[in-house]
Amino acid sequence: MNLQWYPGHMTKARRAMEENLKLVDALVEIRDARIPYSSTNPDLAALGKNKKRILVLNKGDLADPVCTDHWEKHFVAQDYLPLSGDARQRRLGDAIKSRLSEWAEEKRQRDKLKGIVNRPVRIMVVGIPNVGKSTLINTLAGRASSKTGNKPGVTRGVQWIRLSSSVELMDTPGILWPRFQSETVGLHLALCGSLKEEILDPRALALKGIELLHLRYPDALPNKYQIHYQGDGAAFLRELALKQGLLLKGAEADLDGAGRRFLQDLQGGRLGLISLESPDNFGEQPHESV
Ligand code: GDP
Repeated sequence: MNLQWYPGHMTKARRAMEENLKLVDALVEIRDARIPYSSTNPDLAALGKNKKRILVLNKGDLADPVCTDHWEKHFVAQDYLPLSGDARQRRLGDAIKSRLSEWAEEKRQRDKLKGIVNRPVRIMVVGIPNVGKSTLINTLAGRASSKTGNKPGVTRGVQWIRLSSSVELMDTPGILWPRFQSETVGLHLALCGSLKEEILDPRALALKGIELLHLRYPDALPNKYQIHYQGDGAAFLRELALKQGLLLKGAEADLDGAGRRFLQDLQGGRLGLISLESPDNFGEQPHESV
């Protein structure tokens, strides 16, 4: 299965992000808690050099909590500042804001010592497509937030949302593309719904997903479908199709339909709380250091 994917607008978006990065002091990098290794872009280390960074493990409501806990400890040991949760919930937003307020206070103290008039800490949300950037921006901004207009010296089009007297958030997120360093990275992104559906073959993807799920969470498939995977993915999909009434003309099993059903269930958390990567097998970050 070829999952290489290189959108044409990538270079343009990256350039825009590099420009915007110059305007901020700190980054909030979002990754998918189910695949913290695959849902990043190693270039961010260089792009965000000298910036403070909060690492958010988002979609924690879909991930295996034990795994997420291991990842958090792993990232703490690497001097990251991880926070996990659900970008749609205020709780995660509040935890991020509280950390940002601490930074803002530290900065205020430093600026005061240097006799510099304090300016707000400016932050930007970054991450790969579909990881929850817009959702988090909405949660952070809340209803009560006010946008500050364009100011002289600020790149046209960039708007700042005031989160507090000392923190401003850029209203546009920085979009990074994942780097497919291996087929596994592409597979994990696709299984978590981070690649466009139309470029994927649902049946082939589902076959890989079923195999992987069986290895990592052997009870998930029989619990959900009352079907036992016997090492033959096509047979599994056929049984699933027949059981769920997914039929083609002539009452033939719709294997693509069954594949899609499986993927929807997986991505929607209906097969349980599932993480595809753990720090013990994906913990190495050879491409990145902070
Ligand atoms: P962006 O492309 O990074 O801006 O991603 P979006 O904010 O548009 O989110 C992509 C999808 O993920 C949307 O359907 C969101 O509702 C959903 N989403 C975002 N955060 C979470 C989360 O923490 N948990 C779950 N279950 N869904 C989320």
